[in-house]
Amino acid sequence: MIQFYNTLTRKKESFKPLKGKTVRMYTCGPTVYNYVHIGNLRAYIFADTLRRVLLLNNYRVKQVMNITDVGHLTSDADIGEDKMLMGAQREGKTVWEIATFYTEAFMENIGDLTILSPTIVCAATDHIWLQIALIQKLQKKGYTYLAGGNVYFDTGKYKNYGALAGLKHKKEIAIARVEKDSNKKNQHDFVLWFTQSKFQDQDMKWDSPWGVGYPGWHIECSAMATYYLGQPFDIHTGGIDHIPVHHTNEIAQSEAAAGKPLAHVWMHNEFLVTASAKMAKSAGNFLTLASLKEKGYDPLAYRFFCLQTQYRQQLQFTFDALDAAVSGYESLRCAVEEYKRRAGRVKKKSSARMAVLLEKTRKKFIAALNDDLGTPAAIASLFELIRSVNKNQQSLTPGDYAPLHSFFLYADCALGLGLDTKRMQDIPQAITALALKREQARKEKQWAAADAFREEIEEAGYAVQDTQSGTTIQKIR
Ligand code: AMP
Ligand code: ZN
Repeated sequence: MIQFYNTLTRKKESFKPLKGKTVRMYTCGPTVYNYVHIGNLRAYIFADTLRRVLLLNNYRVKQVMNITDVGHLTSDADIGEDKMLMGAQREGKTVWEIATFYTEAFMENIGDLTILSPTIVCAATDHIWLQIALIQKLQKKGYTYLAGGNVYFDTGKYKNYGALAGLKHKKEIAIARVEKDSNKKNQHDFVLWFTQSKFQDQDMKWDSPWGVGYPGWHIECSAMATYYLGQPFDIHTGGIDHIPVHHTNEIAQSEAAAGKPLAHVWMHNEFLVTASAKMAKSAGNFLTLASLKEKGYDPLAYRFFCLQTQYRQQLQFTFDALDAAVSGYESLRCAVEEYKRRAGRVKKKSSARMAVLLEKTRKKFIAALNDDLGTPAAIASLFELIRSVNKNQQSLTPGDYAPLHSFFLYADCALGLGLDTKRMQDIPQAITALALKREQARKEKQWAAADAFREEIEEAGYAVQDTQSGTTIQKIR
């Protein structure tokens, strides 16, 4: 059984797709006016893990992700500056150049983190016609009004407004909306379409039934999600900051237009925070994946760092915590590398004992992930397996390493930690043979022979290292 926490009902619920074996999910993508920060990337690692876990459960997944390249103002309350315009002014480029540049930078980050490419990635500016059609539908049904040159959604006409945000809603909205827009009839109303009256120098603008202008931020997700996935679809994801305004407004406009729910399950990741504050692009002092790479960190060690905390728990970022994750990640990779090396050369039958151990671990691993993406417990089950292998090394048969190695590749389908062969160094067979002989000598306490093998390995330009999870070999020149 799979269980996910649904923000809408505030309960963990058992999950089944609405139709057949395909899960239709929508992930709110980035606003491309700057690099995404590592907090944003936590949101995409979470959505990717969700997708991978569904795949591991033999579901097909159709995932749509938008790129917000228009309409997102600095305040969620439809006031403040246009984020894209700010980016363009900051860098002396056009808004279109800014959008292309930061979309590509985001895609590179996604690749570095082995985040599976969404089935469909759709930019808001490529779907303006779709957004206009949805606003027209809302207008026909009487959910909109015109004020100060903008088209507003009238939340007073939509009874269920704010259900997603629940009790916390009022407080959070009050915080988000310190500045007021005097055009609004109700406090929570939001803009569907801005006309030229807002920014005369706006580069991105389109003709519409209400005048030349551009869409409000929320309408793009409603329009594209239902266009590509239908309504209702299965799962909608995003960070918790989207609950009180963006997702609340997506629900209001989509449900008002179609008279049915937008999505079945709403899943939200908690924030990555630093000791002093939450990490925010608009604050300007954020960490990017590129800056971690410059400091020598493997992006997948950052992914491992994120997965060690369940997605609904707040995660505090410090370099000490990241360093601890690096060593955990390295020991996992070393163990898998070692199992692969041993598996590669031996074509023997594995033991029934290994089969039992792996099946027990597999059950634990899946149960952890199927319980609202319990990645910390899933990772713990892998380390438990490594410890058990270390403890019982004497009684393992040479044939046991092939299924052991394969199991980690299976687990990695869900974790995306790059435990597969492509990341492993190419160590010549002659060197691994020497390493195995050295290990045998050490087991037999023939220390002089073991040292001689080590010297031979080092002379050939490699170093052997004995770690808790086995011996590793590294090229040193
Ligand atoms: P944005 O580009 O601001 O729309 O954000 C992209 C995604 O990152 C959204 O799903 C946000 O909810 C999420 N997000 C923003 N800041 C953080 C953070 N500090 N930690 C985790 N997720 C975040
Ligand atoms: Zn969205």
